[in-house]
Amino acid sequence: MSDWTPTRAAGLERMQAFVPGMGRAYAVGRNTDPGPGGAYAVSRLSPWVRRRLVGEDELARAALEAHGPRAAEKFVQEVIWRTYWKGWLELRPQVWDRYLVTRDQARAAAARDPALARDLAAAEAGTTGIDAFDAWARELAETGWLHNHARMWFASIWVFTLRLPWALGADLFLRRLMDGDPASNTLSWRWVAGLQTVGKTYLATADNIARYTDGRFRPQGLARSAEPLVEAEPVGPTRPLPPAARETPAGPHLLLVTPEDLTPEHLIGPWEIAGVALVAGPDAATEGPARTFLDGALADAGARAG
Ligand SMILES: Cc1cc2nc3c(=O)[nH]c(=O)nc-3n(C[C@H](O)[C@H](O)[C@H](O)COP(=O)(O)OP(=O)(O)OC[C@H]3O[C@@H](n4cnc5c(N)ncnc54)[C@H](O)[C@@H]3O)c2cc1C
Repeated sequence: MSDWTPTRAAGLERMQAFVPGMGRAYAVGRNTDPGPGGAYAVSRLSPWVRRRLVGEDELARAALEAHGPRAAEKFVQEVIWRTYWKGWLELRPQVWDRYLVTRDQARAAAARDPALARDLAAAEAGTTGIDAFDAWARELAETGWLHNHARMWFASIWVFTLRLPWALGADLFLRRLMDGDPASNTLSWRWVAGLQTVGKTYLATADNIARYTDGRFRPQGLARSAEPLVEAEPVGPTRPLPPAARETPAGPHLLLVTPEDLTPEHLIGPWEIAGVALVAGPDAATEGPARTFLDGALADAGARAG
């Protein structure tokens, strides 16, 4: 099995292999980013979880059965962050719409401003001169994955040191991460920038980076303070969710499978499925390893649904 085989079978195999690491070892080691090829204390299961080739329930059950509620607590909490972010955005779709507007405005501004366009290109290519940031930018392009702490440092340096538009950083992650997710990604970028928990920002420091990269990096010249970004309008109220169908009509059904959930087996139930349609949707904008993973995951889901 190659490291990132985009099938449910490979995801389940990787989950099984990680079960011994879901307890105290995770709680102790999860903040350290050893870098590509290093000994990670985190699962690196996010591409499969993002597409629900492996379910949050499966992860939580495996952790609790192997380690019990106390030792598994940290791992289960992190899994639930994903569920929380998904639900938060589902109740407030206006935050996604606002992100798209902000991104498009920032793109237009970059098209008018050659200095901004040059700085953005350097950040994407990993040629800013900030060694840690440049290494993460290249790791992202080459592998389609970054450790959580590297994502936090990267986003913080993007916003507060390089002073680039946050929505274009979120867009870069969304295009290049194999686990790129409108909820986890947008809301995490908003959190770093001080928009999500209003007024609370995340500041990357050289000491923290040195400590949690095992001394691989100690970047110089980082911002020393992180003034929160501000939005013109507050987020606004939550919307009511559409009611769930009370009963399933009889007769043949067409099963619509989207990249939000590529384990349709649990939806098939007792119904007569006459056909399966796979829809790639806006995820078609992903690139590099993220595109390869998504294409493979769609093919795997299609084969299993068939
Ligand atoms: C700026 C920024 C952008 C991010 N963008 C994404 C994204 O697009 N997609 C995404 O899935 N995660 C995103 N995250 C959250 C987190 O970095 C990744 O989920 C995690 O690094 C995945 O690695 P792992 O599978 O080894 O996680 P583990 O630590 O092994 O955790 C197991 C699973 O729990 C979930 N999880 C863990 N931590 C988080 C978290 N903080 N938020 C949400 N879910 C979590 C993931 O599904 C993960 O696979 C982002 C974080 C930041 C700071």
